[in-house]
Amino acid sequence: MQLSLYNSLTRATEAFSAIDESGKTVTFYACGPTVYDYAHIGNFRAFLNADVLRRTLESIEYTVNQVMNITDVGHMTEDNLADGGGEDKMQVAANRLTEAKKAGKLPENSTIDPNDPYAVASFYADAFIEDAEMLGMRIVEDAKASTDCMPRPTAYVAQMIKLVQSLIDNNHAYVASDGVVYFDVMSFPDYGKLSGNTLDSLRSGEGGRVDMETQSIKKHPADFMLWKPDAKHLMRWESPWGEGYPGWHLECSAMACALLGNVIDIHSGGEDNIFPHHECEIAQSCCATGEPSFAHYWFHTRFLLVDGGKMSKSKGDFYTLRDLLEKGATPAAVRLELIKTHYRSNANFTLQGLKDAQRQIERWQRLKTWLEHHATHSIEPKGPLAQAKEKFMAAMCDDLNVAGAIGALSEAVSTYAVDREPTVTGEGGHLQDELDALLSMDEVLGVLGLKHEASTTELAVETIEAMIDERITARDNKDWSRADDIRDELLEMGIEIKDGPEGTSWTRVVK
Ligand code: AMP
Ligand code: ZN
Repeated sequence: MQLSLYNSLTRATEAFSAIDESGKTVTFYACGPTVYDYAHIGNFRAFLNADVLRRTLESIEYTVNQVMNITDVGHMTEDNLADGGGEDKMQVAANRLTEAKKAGKLPENSTIDPNDPYAVASFYADAFIEDAEMLGMRIVEDAKASTDCMPRPTAYVAQMIKLVQSLIDNNHAYVASDGVVYFDVMSFPDYGKLSGNTLDSLRSGEGGRVDMETQSIKKHPADFMLWKPDAKHLMRWESPWGEGYPGWHLECSAMACALLGNVIDIHSGGEDNIFPHHECEIAQSCCATGEPSFAHYWFHTRFLLVDGGKMSKSKGDFYTLRDLLEKGATPAAVRLELIKTHYRSNANFTLQGLKDAQRQIERWQRLKTWLEHHATHSIEPKGPLAQAKEKFMAAMCDDLNVAGAIGALSEAVSTYAVDREPTVTGEGGHLQDELDALLSMDEVLGVLGLKHEASTTELAVETIEAMIDERITARDNKDWSRADDIRDELLEMGIEIKDGPEGTSWTRVVK
C-alpha cells in the first residue's frame, strides 16, 4: 500500500518514498523531550503521532530506523526567542527538586541530588522512558537493545564542536565580538524555506521576536547561537571558543547526522519546532554536509489544547500521564485520546473524551477476549474485521487518517455480540482470522497490548472485592438499599460495577 504524507517543507501531500535504494528502510529522527520536568500530554501528542507514523510505515513493511533525542543539556528557558536568554532549564529543575526535597515531596526511595544537573536530567529521563513505555512508544523497545536510539546530547558534545568548526571553516558561522559563535543565516539562501519566513521579515521582527541584546553584534538579527562561552553555566564543556555550552538547535543536527546519516527520510516534532528549531537544523546540517536537503519529509503535529485552551498550571489542567493515571485513567485510553484527532488539526483534550476512549478500548478488548475464546469457530470467508482492515489501512495511508481508521474498526466491532456464542457459521475461515485482523489493526493504534486497567494496588483490589462481596450478600438478603449504597460508594471511589450473567464485574472510571 502507498502512504501519502503531508510534508511541511513543500506544504503538499506527497507519495512517500524512501531514500534507501531497496526502498524498505526509513530513517526517522523525532525531536524528543527536554528532561527538566515530566513530559506533559501535549508533548506526548507529538511523540505518539510520530509513533503512529512509524507503526503505519512498519505495517506497510518498511523497517524504521528511528532516533529520538532526550535533551539533557541545560538549555535556556528562552531558547526559542533569544540567544541563550532566560534561565538554565536544568537549574530551574534543580531548584524545583531542592524545594521538593525540603518539603519531603521527592518520590519515595529517591536518592537524587538536586544540585547535580546530570542527576536531575537522568531522573526526568528515566521518568520519560517509563511514561513512553506505558504509552506504547515502540522506540522504547529499540532503546532496550541500543542506547543509540534515544541519544543524550551530553554524549555528543564532541560531534557538536566538530560541526561548529566545519561551519566556521566554510564561512557559514563566525565568532562575534562577545565571543559567541553564531550561524550566518545570510550564507544559506534557503533559510526560511520551512517556516515561510524571509530574511527581510526576520530583520524587521515580523517573523518572530528579535533578541535585542545580541542584535547589534550579529550580522543579521536571525543569526543564531552555535556555541556560547560561559564559565559559570551549570553544564559546560571545553571548546576552541572557550568553556561553554552548545546551542539548542545544534544537538539534533549533530545526533541525526551521527546516527542516521547526512540526509534522512523523516524528521518530526510539534508545530512550534518549525521555527526556529527545525529551520536552524536544516541550515546547520545542509551547510555542514553540503547536501541540498537534511530531511526529505517534515512531519509536524499541531498543538494539543485542554478544554479548548492552552494547558496552564494555574488552571490545574497541565496534565502529565501520571496525573491522569491518578485520576483512574488507563495508559491505553490516554494513548487513544492523544492519537485519535488528525495530527494536522489541534486536538482538544477533555476528561469526557478520555472516558469515551476508555469505553471504546473496553469494547475492543472484550471482542479480543471473545475471539480468543472462539478462535476455532468456522465462519464465512472474510469476516467484518478482515474487511475493515483494508479500509483501516487505506485511511492510515491517507496522511494518517486515524479517525477514519478507528471508524472502520468500530463499525466492524459493533457487528459482534460478545455476550453470546458465535451465531454465523461457514466454511471460509475461522474466527482466528478475525482475531488476527483485529490485532494487526492494533499494531498501528497500539492500544490493546497496553495496560487497560487503571493502576491499582493489591490492597485496593481486595477492598473493592470485599465491598462487592458485601453487596452480593446484601442483595441475597434483599437489602436493596444497602446494596445500592455500596454501588454508590464504589462509584465515588472511581469503581463502576456491572451485573451480568457471569456475576459482578468492575472497572475503574476516570473521576
Ligand atoms: P520540549 O520538551 O519542550 O522540547 O517539547 C517536546 C515536544 O513536545 C516538542 O516537539 C514540542 O513541539 C511538543 N509540544 C509541546 N507542547 C505541545 C502541545 N501542547 N501539543 C503538542 N505538542 C507539543
Ligand atoms: Zn530537535
